[in-house]
Amino acid sequence: MIIKPKVRGFICTTAHPVGCAKHVEEQIEYVKANKPAGEGPKNVLVIGCSNGYGLATRISAAFGYGANTLGVQFEKEPTEKRTASAGYYNTKAFEDFAAKEGVYAKSLNIDAFSNEAKEQVIELIKSDMGGKVDLIIYSLGSPRRTDPATGTTYSSALKAIGEPVTRKSLNTDTKQVADFTLDIATEEEIANTIKVMGGEDWELWINALADADVLAEGVKTTAYSYIGKELTWPIYGGATIGQAKADVDRAQTVVNEKLAGLNGSAFVSVLKAVVTQSSSAIPVMPLYLSTLIKVMKEEGTNEGCIEQTHGLLTKEMYADSELTLDEAGRIRMDLLELKDEVQKKVEDLWEQVTSENLEELTDFAAYQAEFFKLFGFGFDGVDYEADVSPIV
Ligand code: NAD
Repeated sequence: MIIKPKVRGFICTTAHPVGCAKHVEEQIEYVKANKPAGEGPKNVLVIGCSNGYGLATRISAAFGYGANTLGVQFEKEPTEKRTASAGYYNTKAFEDFAAKEGVYAKSLNIDAFSNEAKEQVIELIKSDMGGKVDLIIYSLGSPRRTDPATGTTYSSALKAIGEPVTRKSLNTDTKQVADFTLDIATEEEIANTIKVMGGEDWELWINALADADVLAEGVKTTAYSYIGKELTWPIYGGATIGQAKADVDRAQTVVNEKLAGLNGSAFVSVLKAVVTQSSSAIPVMPLYLSTLIKVMKEEGTNEGCIEQTHGLLTKEMYADSELTLDEAGRIRMDLLELKDEVQKKVEDLWEQVTSENLEELTDFAAYQAEFFKLFGFGFDGVDYEADVSPIV
């Protein structure tokens, strides 16, 4: 079939297998060009391994440090008539590249929130990975979660807290900039969002792995977070998602205690805003990112997933130097984004931006190119007119 992008709102419902492989390959090339010198993780579990930050971390671990990786993802498989989701192709490509280098890589396509996922992962660690993992990356982006203890499914809500919030937002389909209002969340919606995106499942994973005795001495784990500043605060940090991320901070303390007997450590790593499937679904983020990319490119400091995660592993978690932690004990990879000058420039542009001057004042073109790349579109050297099988 000839595969073209089909965009519906903030998601593209098709994905190109050759383009997705190219996306993975580009990230591998970055890591190989920036090989770390020291010792790194050896046996890594990546929960949320197929897209965005989880995929990039897996690439850094496997191709930077030669680590064995076990990944968990929840992706749509292909049929003769329908493409798979991008993450499915990304993982297939990652596994192929790893096999060529003789690096162990296995992936489970299963709901990470379930008990079955934890059981299957433990079995594989025992059978394939020498019985222990020494790094666990927690990088899920999901709108809903079924609690394995009760079978109840919770949905997250992107809503404001306290009072409704109106902000400029960008409809990426129509390129129209217009005000967007986030309604106030009910107490139940706040609680549900915490249930889905908070730290409970990270705790459940670490408890299951620890109880099964598959964690190595000195094991490390990190969950990913975003904080942002004034511009995004009312819709992110100060909204329902921010409450969920505060719960991840809470879980970090609990997980750390659980790992104390193994001299292990748990961190929350705060990463910069980047274009991923999860971030493009958050209102205001596409406009914020289009503007941020422009400003950070001008500063020469713009980074994507792979630069962030590679920096996290090589300059923080596996560097010889001490970790640079904030007052809450979090690793901060977002400091260049949050620099006052950067935020001020973004804010100034934000105030002026309209549908008419969008392309001039922001780098919407770069945002859109990044978005299409997530689904394997827009890569040089890929023949998008060629007949390709969706089944890989
Ligand atoms: P993403 O959408 O690119 O990837 C999400 C991953 O989660 C995919 O691999 C998907 O398969 C997996 N997944 C979702 N539901 C699952 C389930 N039920 N079972 C198994 N796997 C499942 O997301 P992302 O933007 O890389 O976000 C990952 C983490 O990074 C999140 O915690 C997010 O808050 C954080 N983060 C993101 C940004 C950003 O700008 N994108 C910034 C800072 C922090």
